[in-house]
Amino acid sequence: MISLQNIRKSYHTDYNSLEVLKGIDLTINQGEFVSIMGSSGSGKSTLLNILGLLDEYDSGEYLLNDTPMINLSQKQAAMYRNQLLGFVFQSFNLLNFKSAMENVALPLYYQKVDRKKRQALAVDYLERVGLKEWAHHLPTQLSGGQQQRVAIARSLITNPKVILADEPTGALDSKTSHDVMEIFKQVNKEGITMIIVTHEEDIARMTNRIIHLKDGLIEREELVS
Ligand code: ADP
Ligand code: MG
Repeated sequence: MISLQNIRKSYHTDYNSLEVLKGIDLTINQGEFVSIMGSSGSGKSTLLNILGLLDEYDSGEYLLNDTPMINLSQKQAAMYRNQLLGFVFQSFNLLNFKSAMENVALPLYYQKVDRKKRQALAVDYLERVGLKEWAHHLPTQLSGGQQQRVAIARSLITNPKVILADEPTGALDSKTSHDVMEIFKQVNKEGITMIIVTHEEDIARMTNRIIHLKDGLIEREELVS
């Protein structure tokens, strides 16, 4: 599903440049449930953003679904994202003036699915994350855990092959974090590849493989039994 070979990435400012990824080799198979773990600044978000075609790498090779992700135009990147990927972020990234249902339906609006159909699907996905009764509430009327479940429903509605989640439990208490991880586990059981970035050991332990990132390199990989 995903193959990286010798991926490098530097950030340049006016004064200096910082090499954040120093040659990442990584293979993730379809249907895997993996975490990328490392301390703050180790390059986790940079790596996830490259996987998610939200940022470009400097050198190396990235195959997504057997297709080389190289020299993509903005439009091509958006097309691959829409076809293959779903995103979940630490801060939920919901629109506060839209209901839970409208937030979940939004990706289908961009795919020009008609209103009735996208709203019906949004309610189905809200039901899957246990929030059917909350469809007409605004994000501000929901708890953090509920908001993240709305964001998960939104990431699923386009039927992605891979979900990329950057510190999805970073803003949640530990009970709620575990509930969110349980939802990810269920989603993974349906065959969706899950890649979770976290700096929390107990969250990483809920995935099947932990990729330890340190100073821009994969330090080691660990299978969770
Ligand atoms: P993590 O998610 O593991 O905390 P990041 O990938 O966000 O790490 O960042 C890795 C390093 O790259 C950090 O030192 C960070 O300050 C730096 N960095 C991240 N994004 C940028 C950027 N857009 N411009 C310059 N430096 C950046
Ligand atoms: Mg980060």
